[in-house]
Amino acid sequence: MIDLYGLTMNELEALLESWDEPRFRARQVWSWLYDSRVRNFDDMRNLPLPLRERLKKEAALGSLELEAEETSIDGTIKRLYRLPDGQLIESVLMEYDDERRTACISSQAGCAMGCVFCATGQMGFSRHLTSDEIFEQALYFARDLEARGERLSNVVFMGMGEPFHNYDASIEAVRRLMSDLGIGARHITVSTVGLVPMIRRFADEGLQVKLAVSLHAATDSERDTLLPVNRRWSLKELVNACHYYVDMTGRRVSFEWTLIQGENDTPEQALALGRLLHGLKCHVNVIPLNPTTGYHGGPSAAGRVETFIAVLAEHGIPATVRVRRGIDIDAGCGQLKSKVLRRRREQAKMGAAAAADVELGLEDALPEQAGDEFDGDLGGSVADIEDGVDFDDIQ
Ligand code: SF4
Repeated sequence: MIDLYGLTMNELEALLESWDEPRFRARQVWSWLYDSRVRNFDDMRNLPLPLRERLKKEAALGSLELEAEETSIDGTIKRLYRLPDGQLIESVLMEYDDERRTACISSQAGCAMGCVFCATGQMGFSRHLTSDEIFEQALYFARDLEARGERLSNVVFMGMGEPFHNYDASIEAVRRLMSDLGIGARHITVSTVGLVPMIRRFADEGLQVKLAVSLHAATDSERDTLLPVNRRWSLKELVNACHYYVDMTGRRVSFEWTLIQGENDTPEQALALGRLLHGLKCHVNVIPLNPTTGYHGGPSAAGRVETFIAVLAEHGIPATVRVRRGIDIDAGCGQLKSKVLRRRREQAKMGAAAAADVELGLEDALPEQAGDEFDGDLGGSVADIEDGVDFDDIQ
């Protein structure tokens, strides 16, 4: 199948010419793809029927297959997509009262950064996404919103993966979000855990795209334990790179601080953060932890959050408490994938047990009695994980 959203205009022209279609067809198809953003070939009404039929057989309007979807009571939609090679990735759509519609998209299947509190980090790294796979996550939400008379207004690269570890594809996707979906640079945010050389490269791109940095600790010793990337690039190097970004773009940096009860939510830590960021054009978003099964920590209590914010304010650092969205549907990065894989593993165990029972003539045996060691194919999603973090390839 040819993913039409993976083709440039020239490639689309070449494809249709090879199908003996007149030259203007490519322009028509392009308009259906990017102006109307149709969801099926039957809607391409000015194309001749035989061409629509051929497109249905040989082409696709995107490469992501919806594997699971959950909707939160707060309206947040979380999707799990299957990629052509079986990898699973997540995207989230957040709806706000002021009509903002924000897509949170993934840049990698899994993640090599190993942040201890993150479900994706706990899975390890599988592979980089292509720019098409990154772009299409936003496109799918845009298409669905337009079908109900709304529009996708913002995109944040805060899903699975570290966008700067997959730098070229992420930046290519950013450019397509602007050119093909019409999303303004100021409405796109790229988030990083602190890949210092890439922050500097990003600052040099000449884009007005926002930068968010996941900080979570204000001393190297504390940050080393939460974010292994800090052992490669210290806080001093990170903050220097942020100053460079501000100098080059004139934009402020957003710092993300996940508040973990008893871990990084004391007034002393807020004071250290205030000192670290002194003089930097920035804003801090504090987000009480979204708990994951692989990490012991929990979200900070409301009183501790308020004190933390107040100490920052005393030091002139603007900060906002972000509401955790989609809590009831595990909207934190990597959580839906973990849940679906867990469910599948259980089903696979039961399937293996049933098969064993049939072979042994024990159809009535309880499923739990066999298959506990099942280690079958879970769609290629967990089989090729690389454990550990290696930053040597990021320069
Ligand atoms: S928080 Fe982001 S960078 Fe860290 S492990 Fe999770 S996905 Fe990767």
